[in-house]
Amino acid sequence: MKISEIELISFSITATGRRTKWGYGEQGPERQVQYAITRIATDNGLEGYSEQGYPYFYSPQQDEIDNIVKPLLMGEDPLDRERLWQLMARHRGFSEGLVGNIDCTLWDLAGRMTGLSISRLLGRARNKIKAYASTAPNLGTPEDYAKHALDCKRAGYKAYKVHANIYWDPIKKEAAPGRPAFPKEDVDICRAVREAVGDDMVLMLDPWGIYTLDEAIWVGRKIEELDYYFYEHPMHERQIEPYRKLCSELKIPICGPELAPEGVFSRAEWALQRATDIGRTDINFGGITGVRKTVDMYEALGMKCEIHVGGFGNGQIMSATSEDTCEYYERGLLGLDMVDTPTPPYLKTPCDPMDEDGNVLLPDGPGLGYELDWDYIDSHRFPR
Ligand SMILES: [Mg+2]
Repeated sequence: MKISEIELISFSITATGRRTKWGYGEQGPERQVQYAITRIATDNGLEGYSEQGYPYFYSPQQDEIDNIVKPLLMGEDPLDRERLWQLMARHRGFSEGLVGNIDCTLWDLAGRMTGLSISRLLGRARNKIKAYASTAPNLGTPEDYAKHALDCKRAGYKAYKVHANIYWDPIKKEAAPGRPAFPKEDVDICRAVREAVGDDMVLMLDPWGIYTLDEAIWVGRKIEELDYYFYEHPMHERQIEPYRKLCSELKIPICGPELAPEGVFSRAEWALQRATDIGRTDINFGGITGVRKTVDMYEALGMKCEIHVGGFGNGQIMSATSEDTCEYYERGLLGLDMVDTPTPPYLKTPCDPMDEDGNVLLPDGPGLGYELDWDYIDSHRFPR
């Protein structure tokens, strides 16, 4: 069996997201954006697709498929996933996101070939996982957050994660790209949420890398008093040493790194330097193969690894990993009027349905476990 076709299926979708020139912050208007699914087919009629989960996951460009992916993968055996992963990971043209996209496509092909979910190919551990509601940033006042947290609690969530003021000045109500951060106003939000939901809801804070070390220590001590469970990615991840100091200063577990490059290899270094207490990764960092290596590395060190955002690809990894290592599913990002995640228009399958006990029911295949809506895709195609 050989890979005989690799193509990008491009189509438009209406984005309701929050893209700004700073990546995170101001609310943007609704707009049409191009999205793409990678298709890999074989000379004996098998195929796989790369729907790992919209909107967070890496979407390749046509020139990457033509100039980087095809020269390396055409004619190869698609079941040689580890060999191909090693080749891609050493190829300077492949970003970690592109490796992840292609790796997920190869896993999807193997799943469709066998009629099994990726989690069953890996060896399944469970079919559901505790969810936390993950807010969008910059939702408003502490009272706005408190009301939303209560809405989420009533919807069944047992846990809630705050993204507070990120590249946003809550006093002037305008973009504050980069710096300064607003630690006092962030703590006011955290306190209002705790007071609203009571003591029995698990709470987390994710400042998305905007604090200095001094600010991170100050906020960390405040949310320790508020009994928050973990404190995610509070500073930029280009430096390990401030994280090592932060971990030694605080009792609350630090969760990360989330965005540091080099997947399992950098995360092993952070763990050995005691620069994190709970690991973090997602399939943008090397796909199913890369995340499986990372999760197993953390497990071997006796650490948890909280998977960043949901989606079908991450869901398959969670399904194949025990709760002792991956405890929560990140459901969001939720606006003030949302307690559920929307299903993108090109899918017939909701990605992360939640039961009344606040558990996400994990996808069970075949492959990644979604059903594409070809009527939508074909009527919204982008010409090459
Ligand atoms: Mg985060």
